[in-house]
Amino acid sequence: MELYKLTIHEAKDLLAKKEISASELTKSTIDRIQAVENKINAFITLNFDEALNQAKEVDKAIHEGSELPPLAGIPMALKDNMCTLGIKTTCASKMLENFVPPYDATVAKRLKEQKSILLGKLNMDEFAMGSSTENSAFKKTCNPWDITRVPGGSSGGSAASVIADQAFFSLGSDTGGSIRQPASFCGLVGFKPTYGAVSRYGLIAFASSLDQIGPFTKDVTDCALVLNAITGHDHMDATSANIDYPDYTKALKDDVKGWKIGVPKEYFGEGLDPEVKKAIEKAIATFESLGAEIEEISLPHTEYALSVYYILACAEASSNLARYDGVKYGYRASEYDDLDSLYKNTRTQGFGPEVKRRIMLGNYALSSGYYDAYYLKALKVRTLIKEDFDKAFKKYDIILSPTSPTTAFTFGAKTDPLQMYLSDVYTIPVNIAGLPGMSMPCGFDSRGLPIGMQLIGKAFEEDKLLQAAYTFEQNTDYHIKKPAVNWG
Ligand code: GLN
Repeated sequence: MELYKLTIHEAKDLLAKKEISASELTKSTIDRIQAVENKINAFITLNFDEALNQAKEVDKAIHEGSELPPLAGIPMALKDNMCTLGIKTTCASKMLENFVPPYDATVAKRLKEQKSILLGKLNMDEFAMGSSTENSAFKKTCNPWDITRVPGGSSGGSAASVIADQAFFSLGSDTGGSIRQPASFCGLVGFKPTYGAVSRYGLIAFASSLDQIGPFTKDVTDCALVLNAITGHDHMDATSANIDYPDYTKALKDDVKGWKIGVPKEYFGEGLDPEVKKAIEKAIATFESLGAEIEEISLPHTEYALSVYYILACAEASSNLARYDGVKYGYRASEYDDLDSLYKNTRTQGFGPEVKRRIMLGNYALSSGYYDAYYLKALKVRTLIKEDFDKAFKKYDIILSPTSPTTAFTFGAKTDPLQMYLSDVYTIPVNIAGLPGMSMPCGFDSRGLPIGMQLIGKAFEEDKLLQAAYTFEQNTDYHIKKPAVNWG
């Protein structure tokens, strides 16, 4: 059996029955990485020696009959913007190329406590700014469905690794769509939890009022298992919600009878690929046949979401990235005359063009003459966008839409930044409103590339999203198809 192909829940069952060992599972996955990584390029750093040691420890514990946490022995990987104690964390930037964190992000710590096995750190757009992973300072990650195409971004490595069976699951971060859009491009389940549901402690900040961490998995059951491990209150993150978090596996029920699902008309406008539209309409018909009531709704402020996002995200990024000054840690220019030129040369050489563009936009929006016109105005419109959703959720259980207007595009296809920004039009409003959102496979285009459907929920109702997704998955088989390309 090719163990790397299993889902988490399948591997977990075999481990519990002692039919396989954590070492076998880990070795199989490492072999898989070694066989296909030269084609996929999902990883920035590999952690094989430590992974094999961790697996041995799990096997020892199983042998001794100790009770183990649900993700024990499951090999996974993390986006390279999550701090890992003693393991390089680069944010795919020259600025942090040699940065070795002295602590674990809370999510890394929680997965360590689960005895999940860390295989390595995954490629991404530099500082999570981008939608194709082409902004990485180090390498281009390929989409396993077609290696001439991007895997999406910014969590491109997180998505590519899981669909290529190089990891059982991965974590990514989503500021404006960076989990959902790559999940859609790679045919995976990708979940952005409610803002505050997963600790951001140790996540290298991009835009703090929007950033959230979440999982990429092969199916919905696996998604619930990983959410169980990473959600929860954390006193190290002031925005972490101190509430009771449910057992998400309880939401895995095949039932949407009588559910009211809203479909926002603004998400079907110009720019939506007709094949994507068709797949979403088919998904809507599936939900209807399963007893849900579908109605068209309006989220009238949607058209402002992209502008609001790029003002707020850039403003926050310009402030968050001010810390990379060549003094405290990270890259330092080798030549400088005084403190000013140290800053200037370090930042000029250390940051890539997209990061610089955002820092400039952010500083502009925050400058005294423009603060009211841009930043303050964007904050006000943010409230209006959130109110659109609040109103909708008074009547509807969940909202359904496409995840991205297109399927995966080819490398270099979107050189105009605005064109690139548009690939997140449907995901960005969800971050602006702080809501949970997920993408799951709902079809394929005529090239055989996966199409993603987005489900959006009320704050802290991730269980409803999981139930709807699980029901859809039980009654369709899009999640079963794997990339047919033989990269090996
Ligand atoms: N693509 C969006 C951006 O470039 C979102 C990125 C993200 O979610 N990290 O900002």
